[in-house]
Amino acid sequence: MTMPAVFISDIYKKFLNVQALSGVSFEIGQGSFFGLLGPNGAGKSTLINIMAGLTRASQGTIQVMGNDVSKDWRKTRFALGVVPQELVYDSFFTVHEMLKLQSGYFGLGASNRAWIDELIETLDLTDKSDEILYRLSGGMKRRVLIAQALVHKPQVVVLDEPTAGVDVELRRVLWDLTKRLHKEGHTILLTTHYLEEAEALCERIAILDQGKVVALDSTKAIVEQFPYRFLCINLKDSSVKLPDVIQEKTVSLKGSELTLRLHRKEDRIADLLEAFYAANISFTDLRTYEPGLEEVFVALTGKKNG
Ligand code: ADP
Repeated sequence: MTMPAVFISDIYKKFLNVQALSGVSFEIGQGSFFGLLGPNGAGKSTLINIMAGLTRASQGTIQVMGNDVSKDWRKTRFALGVVPQELVYDSFFTVHEMLKLQSGYFGLGASNRAWIDELIETLDLTDKSDEILYRLSGGMKRRVLIAQALVHKPQVVVLDEPTAGVDVELRRVLWDLTKRLHKEGHTILLTTHYLEEAEALCERIAILDQGKVVALDSTKAIVEQFPYRFLCINLKDSSVKLPDVIQEKTVSLKGSELTLRLHRKEDRIADLLEAFYAANISFTDLRTYEPGLEEVFVALTGKKNG
């Protein structure tokens, strides 16, 4: 069996009185596009920080390309590139100088120049390459952070909420670059609040909730195994009292639109319509829809994303 790109085994992390991670285990196959999802406070950043050597686990092991993050820190750093969430620095170096410096830090010399130039061009930083970093706008600084994370062409690329607060153009540039690296065989680990993004891009997904993995599978299987679908009904009068059998299945009532969650095997639409007729409740329209990752996420974590 080939070695996984990321191997996470029974990770626990406690901060004073907060148990941030409780026995997290999963593997990310080499060359895959993997999504790490979960509501705020689920432990995603903590896990990524442990992987990047910024925080120590209380217990457990993480290996990146076979290197133990707590023992082979240098090798791990070489195999990993983390595009961080936040803008962290102000520097007096120019964009180009910073990337050369970062490249040198990884022991990469002149042979890496072509890749640096390509990164600068791909991220539309050409006009800014001789600009001093602290003078750049927030959006441009973000582009530099992406270039910095990728300067050594790491085998495993971690994108931590990369599109939060990012304009449409940078989002497109970032996804083009990420898809290209994925195509070239790099492993991508993405955390995002945008479940549609995750559903479209990720082959496999882990959902974390309160420091535990609550779902781990291919994106398709996670959605397909969800045993519910939804029925939307437009009520003629939204102030009517709904019978218990309907109330039990109600997900929301927004204006006149009532959404019900139906179990695929146990609930029959005909029975529910019968309940409406029996209670003398009229409606103007009805439709069913299939769940997406968003609905599965809400059902598993009990929380709306974002
Ligand atoms: P996520 O990235 O999924 O939003 P985090 O990993 O940031 O979640 O946080 C997980 C839990 O750990 C939260 O309850 C958070 O408040 C707590 N936490 C994270 N970092 C620290 C820290 N440095 N000190 C104390 N508690 C922390």
